[in-house]
Amino acid sequence: MLVITLSKTHLTMFSKKEIIDILSDNSQNEELFRLADKTRVKYVGDEVYLRGLIEFSNICKCTCHYCGLRFENKAIERYRLSADEIIDCAKKAASKGIKTIVLQSGEDIHFTKEVMCKIITEIKKLNTALTLSIGERTFDDYKAFKDAGADRYLLRIETTDKSLYERLHPGMDFYNRLKCLKNLKKLGYETGSGSLVGLPGQSIESLADDILFFKENDFDMIGVGPFLPHPSTPLKDASHGDFTLSLKVMALIRILMKNINIPATTAMETLHRNGRILALQSGANVVMPNVTKADYKEKYEIYPDKSANNNDIDTIKEKIISIGRIASKDFGFRKK
Ligand code: SAH
Repeated sequence: MLVITLSKTHLTMFSKKEIIDILSDNSQNEELFRLADKTRVKYVGDEVYLRGLIEFSNICKCTCHYCGLRFENKAIERYRLSADEIIDCAKKAASKGIKTIVLQSGEDIHFTKEVMCKIITEIKKLNTALTLSIGERTFDDYKAFKDAGADRYLLRIETTDKSLYERLHPGMDFYNRLKCLKNLKKLGYETGSGSLVGLPGQSIESLADDILFFKENDFDMIGVGPFLPHPSTPLKDASHGDFTLSLKVMALIRILMKNINIPATTAMETLHRNGRILALQSGANVVMPNVTKADYKEKYEIYPDKSANNNDIDTIKEKIISIGRIASKDFGFRKK
């Protein structure tokens, strides 16, 4: 039984027990989503920020158990865009009014500090904000990217359950992930994190810990999406994460973190045919259209059917307008 009245947009904190209660009980979901939506209107408004996503390499040295790009997946055709191809994708997106470019890839060692800095410098000439999502790097690398002009960085913690984290990420160190997030904040990036919902072995308690961790660290962006099993990974037989639970985690983050940027993630849309809209109506204020060249898009398969979504700029803009929202022409930094 829930003891909290979900009615006030100025609510700023829940206890861990309250978060667990809300996540475990489905009788007040509509109130929860409505409150998240009201909070979104009050603190970040009706504009939806568009981030043009360029998936520039699916080559990865990591072996994350859930991810289709994992090094040990031999069933995937690997690709890597040249610097010129990346810049070309960015130019096309900018010419369509996109004001943030997101560069995402596997952990591909080809993209050294020097190579990345050249690409960053070129893209920054387009008068867009620039977000990087290329995994764990040294402080020195993060500093060089920042000095070259990168504005934001996305690095999901994936799960705050240390032992689950270490089971799912062989050879990786939970504390190093934390250190990377700390370094990014220290360097002045708008820092994004987030987690997967429904990982095998993940509990509701640990999802509550994730939410408290985001709040405590005051990240500028949080992306949440359901885990989707990929057939060429060790988790191929696991069940997918629950859509409603993912939406609830996202809604709670909006209620507690007010003015941050929250994407309606592609994983939500992949699991539910109306997932993106439902997310936008339950706290989200960001969408990331895919602006990678068509021939590469389908090869960036972190989970199945990802590229089957209508992820192009025009379709996304239409959807935003159809629900009475505004496709923003702004850079979309976190509102102060
Ligand atoms: N190499 C970068 C980008 C990773 S891909 C990095 O390490 O940050 C971006 C996100 O996709 C990941 O952070 C993860 O949360 C999500 N993802 C990966 N595999 C997934 C799966 N099977 N289901 C749902 N989301 C997944």
